[in-house]
Order: sequence, then structure tokens, then C-alpha cells
Amino acid sequence: MLARMPALFVGHGNPMNAVTDTEYSRAWRRLGSSLPRARAVLVISAHWYVPFLGVTAMAAPRTIHDFGGFPRELHEFQYPAPGDPALAAEVKELLRSAEVRLDASWGLDHGAWSVLTHLFPNADVPVLQLSIDENEPPDYHYKVGQKLGSLRDGGVLILGSGNVVHNLHTFAWGAHTAKPFDWAQRFEQAVREHAAGGDHSALINYEPLGPDAHLSVPTPDHYHLCCTCLARSIRTTA
Ligand code: ZN
Repeated sequence: MLARMPALFVGHGNPMNAVTDTEYSRAWRRLGSSLPRARAVLVISAHWYVPFLGVTAMAAPRTIHDFGGFPRELHEFQYPAPGDPALAAEVKELLRSAEVRLDASWGLDHGAWSVLTHLFPNADVPVLQLSIDENEPPDYHYKVGQKLGSLRDGGVLILGSGNVVHNLHTFAWGAHTAKPFDWAQRFEQAVREHAAGGDHSALINYEPLGPDAHLSVPTPDHYHLCCTCLARSIRTTA
């Protein structure tokens, strides 16, 4: 019998985490080895942010290199996990109140594989991706997350991969020892406290958190999926 799986929200950070030994990649390896055996993983990645709700339904999803300017090793990286078309149909059925597209064109983007390669290094657990609908607000994604919850009882790990704070305009490129901005630390702390306290509405309606929220979430992609996971979450990493 399959164990009930957690729902995780992981900050994926720099794609180079896929191929380098960092405190993040080490933490994901430890996390992966602590998980019960999974039937499959359903990933909601910040990098599949499109004007529809879709779930990948191919038997062999391709590895997508959705970035530029990184070393060849990263551009040639492959994560050959299988898909699970039957599970994709199950997801569509679970979300039947929304129009869900069974997708044959996407695959695994770096938000998925840069983390999965450490959680499941053998690439032997089937992986699906669910998109974020850019036309819909956070509470829509929260409701999607609530409907997906029952998958966990069937051995499906739900993995959100984005970042609570994501502002590349303020990123200190090349400054490896740069300290986090105070507004970023305050916003992340507020998110952690609301999540730990179960105050989901404060996280879905994050705008009143003020300038810290505007700086931390200048575009919704890396944050909104947090709402999908929040509906089912038990743990977060920064
Ligand atoms: Zn990203």
C-alpha cells in the first residue's frame, strides 16, 4: 500500500543547482531520501506560466532547456523520467470544473528537473507537470490545489517549484556573498509565519503586505504556485 505523500513547495533558485553541489542541492538529496516511495510526481513549475490550465500527458516528456547563457553541461542536461498519461487523465477528471488541456508539447522545464534530479536521482519516478494559468488569480490556484489533494493518498507527490521572493532586477549578479535585502527577508518571514499559522487568506491576498510584497513578487509566476501547494502543504524550503 502506498503511503500518503506530502505536498512540497521548493525555491529552485539558480538552474546551476542541478549540476553543482550546493547547500540547496544537498538539502534536496536529503529530502528525497526521506520520502516514502512515490507512484508519481506532479510538478507545478513557475516556468510553465501560460494562458491555460494544462497537464502534460506524454509517455516520455522531453527535458526543456528554458534559459540561455549557462555552461554546456546545463544545456545538455537530460532528466529521462517517464510520464504517466493515465494519471494525466485522472488529474483532468479531478479538475473537471475547470477546462484542463491534456498537453503533448511541453515536457520538463528547469523548474522541475533542477530539483527532481536531486530528489529522485535515478529518474525512475514518473513525472507530470501542471501549468499555472496566467489569466487566473491566486485564489483560483489555491482551489486547484485543494482539488488535487486526494492524489496524495494515491502515492502522488505534489511539488511546487518557484520562489517566495523572486526579483531578478535586484539580483546581485556575480556577487556571491551578497546578503539578502531586508525587504526580501521580511516578506519571506511573513510568508513563513502565515503558512505556519494556517492563515492562507493572508498569503492568497498578499498585496496588503505592502512594498515588501511588491518588491518580492513583481510578477506572479514564481509565487502563485505557492498558493496551489499551500492548499495541501506541510513543508516549505526557502
Ligand atoms: Zn525560476
